[in-house]
Amino acid sequence: MSDLTPQVRRRRTFAIISHPDAGKTTLTEKLLLFSGAIQIAGSVKARKASRHATSDWMEIEKQRGISVASSVMQMEYRDCVINLLDTPGHQDFSEDTYRVLTAVDAALMVIDAANGVEPQTRRLLQVCRARNTPILTFVNKMDREVQEPLSLMDEIERELGMSVVPFTWPVGMGKAFHGVMDLREEQMRVFSPGEDRKTLDDEIIDGLQNPVYAERFGAEYEHARHDIELVQMAAPSFDEAEFLSGKQTPMFFGSAINNFGVREVLDALVDLAPPPSNRTAIQREVKPDESKFSGVVFKIQANMDPAHRDRIAFVRVASGHFERGMRLKVVRSGKELRPNTVVSFLSQRRELLDEAFAGDIIGIPNHGVLQLGDTLTEGEALQFTGLPFFAPEMFRTVEVADPLRTKQLKAGLQQLGEEGAIQVFRPVAGSMLLLGAVGQLQFEVVAHRLEHEYGVKARIAPSRFQVARWVTCDDANELKRFIDGNSHRVAHDAVDAPTVLVEYAPELRAIEANWPKIKFHALREHA
Ligand code: GDP
Repeated sequence: MSDLTPQVRRRRTFAIISHPDAGKTTLTEKLLLFSGAIQIAGSVKARKASRHATSDWMEIEKQRGISVASSVMQMEYRDCVINLLDTPGHQDFSEDTYRVLTAVDAALMVIDAANGVEPQTRRLLQVCRARNTPILTFVNKMDREVQEPLSLMDEIERELGMSVVPFTWPVGMGKAFHGVMDLREEQMRVFSPGEDRKTLDDEIIDGLQNPVYAERFGAEYEHARHDIELVQMAAPSFDEAEFLSGKQTPMFFGSAINNFGVREVLDALVDLAPPPSNRTAIQREVKPDESKFSGVVFKIQANMDPAHRDRIAFVRVASGHFERGMRLKVVRSGKELRPNTVVSFLSQRRELLDEAFAGDIIGIPNHGVLQLGDTLTEGEALQFTGLPFFAPEMFRTVEVADPLRTKQLKAGLQQLGEEGAIQVFRPVAGSMLLLGAVGQLQFEVVAHRLEHEYGVKARIAPSRFQVARWVTCDDANELKRFIDGNSHRVAHDAVDAPTVLVEYAPELRAIEANWPKIKFHALREHA
């Protein structure tokens, strides 16, 4: 117990994850609404509109201000400080999303009850699972004709490899959606549609077996009662340890657009989701309530004004008490930083922040002093681990149209690489740079920003490579032999890590078989 313990215990930091159109934006707005942190609906929507109206990056660019402001939201609810991190949808889906998930202590998964588990949900879940992130599940759109709740439950269990514990159960669906049974409180919350409805006055009926149910809700109630009996026999009971290690997920049903079932989710976040816990640095475990500040940069976003090229580094506070104007050390470079204009994201406005505690996210404007994965401390040499870089799945060559601008191209790519907008590789043989990404949009963003921020018209052309793996070996000589022997397909990334690039997966398997001492990695952790 330290002076900071109470502040740590009241914090919850989570991300909402879903496949596009499942209702993430709607649910985010409603969560903010319930916590009283609103005026915000507009800006969440505006951002979304910008994303959907066009796939043209220029438009997205215009909205960058909004997207900086709404990618982290902070709200207070029931004496808890809740930090909610947005994960981009499919159009701007990139490695960024993965890294955001390293900054949270829990995730809220939104499932469209008609579509069930969708590809993006699956991918995001994989990342959460790799980190044992606890997951709450919200099954949305019960006001539509959707899948049977039992089969949804089964699908989530099978597809995502978690056991599901229903906390609520729907009575009916679509036009005949009557509400949800709260299986723990043993009561029914009766549904009434309407976005502007005051949610506090929901009708509540006591008991799971009240005789009025059959009378009022007829066949739907009978159906639900049957399901609930099955579920209560077959589903495991809630086990905190299983939940905290990401093996079991509490499931809630509702309709975000109708404000229905949202409060239960917010309550569950407060009651079930964990406060910030220890974070692992190479040197030691860091406790959230230690007195000294430490934090890690998990995302860098270029700021609104391209002329100034300033960027905001998003820092997850890992320990201690951050106060405006305090002196911080960038452990990697040894440089000192004294951020006076740190921004917080409370109530959606970018406002100056005075203090922050473990779990909070602070934004530090800088001109390149901070890089992805950097650790900030009050002086101690600590380096947090675990910020993932994923082997790119798409490759392009990049050349400058005007050779006199080569220097600018290199400088631009260096900065964009540091931001994590793209991965840049220097082939051992040849001088053409290679770009690697996990999403197509990343290339468009880079071309656009090179032109507008660095004055470089770049020719970005397809590359024959399709697969990349970072290579390491305990034996430095063997690694050198490997690199020399494969110079036509080895490149170095931004931090000089050697990478082997191939055209087809079978080629990679052949290389692996030929070089048994070399290790091949699809994921590199920042260290
Ligand atoms: P996102 O892409 O996951 O952020 O999804 P949105 O929040 O933008 O929702 C996608 C669409 O589903 C929008 O047209 C919403 O109005 C709609 N939607 C969201 N929640 C519900 C719901 O509970 N019921 C119904 N019928 N539609 C919903």
